[in-house]
Amino acid sequence: MPGTLYLVATPIGNLQDISFRALETLKNVDVIACEDTRHTRKLLNFYSITNKLISYHEHNESERAEEFAQRLQLGESIAIVSDAGTPGINDPGFRMVQKAHEIGAAVVPVPGAAAFVNAAIASGLPIDSLFFGGFLPSRKGERRKRLAEVKAVPATLIFYESPHRLCKSLTDCLEILGNRQAAVARELTKLHEEIVRGNLRELSVKYLSAISKGEIVLVIERSGEGKSVVKDERSLNERVKEIEAEGNDHMTALKKAAKEFGLSKSEAYRIFQGQYYMR
Ligand code: SAM
Repeated sequence: MPGTLYLVATPIGNLQDISFRALETLKNVDVIACEDTRHTRKLLNFYSITNKLISYHEHNESERAEEFAQRLQLGESIAIVSDAGTPGINDPGFRMVQKAHEIGAAVVPVPGAAAFVNAAIASGLPIDSLFFGGFLPSRKGERRKRLAEVKAVPATLIFYESPHRLCKSLTDCLEILGNRQAAVARELTKLHEEIVRGNLRELSVKYLSAISKGEIVLVIERSGEGKSVVKDERSLNERVKEIEAEGNDHMTALKKAAKEFGLSKSEAYRIFQGQYYMR
């Protein structure tokens, strides 16, 4: 009879965020498949677990899935963990789960942390319906296309984001989705944990100047949530051009537009210079 594949969630920062059952499973399986053996060894050392580790990551996933399937067929038990959080959530795991089902092995989830769930519950936005979109594409054109695709989804939108792309993504979100309420959840469960709330305009201005570091989840209010969605979705640039067309010089137009957008003149100037709001 085939063995069992356990999908074991591990902490997303704070090493204490792991269940008794997860620790028991990691102690008792025949082998633990992990993304980075050095990383997972630190977690195991913290809990004095000395079990065998094998690396399993996106570059050797197909090959390893075959090898693990053979082990499962021999009746062995395998635990899959990722570097952080729930395996398979924007991490390897999916192919192995498919393979395990194909060969009739039992697949057992051992629940724990997932960054997007914790960002959602702490965001203060409605969470009765969620759309988790993983990472937004890194290329601007693709990112804007993806945002246009999800614009009308009637659910709170959640994305993983890298710190160096945060500002650009916030700006694209503002342009494509409108000025919705949002939250940037950073370094959850870690020393520098913070949840910054605001509308997309405020957040894109904040992260234009703030140095964003660490791991980030972006949570955005659903389409048509109501009063908090600003109806005027024009960009700063467009508004500046409109005011210029009314016969004002550039600096006057920028000053007036900045006031309307609730920005200081220097913030508006930097945004305009950086073409952050340009289509
Ligand atoms: N499997 C993980 C999970 O269950 O959430 C996700 C892995 S994905 C490769 C890594 C991304 O998750 C990070 O770039 C960040 O967007 C998000 N993330 C992971 N840990 C986080 C944390 N402690 N705080 C905020 N975001 C986090």
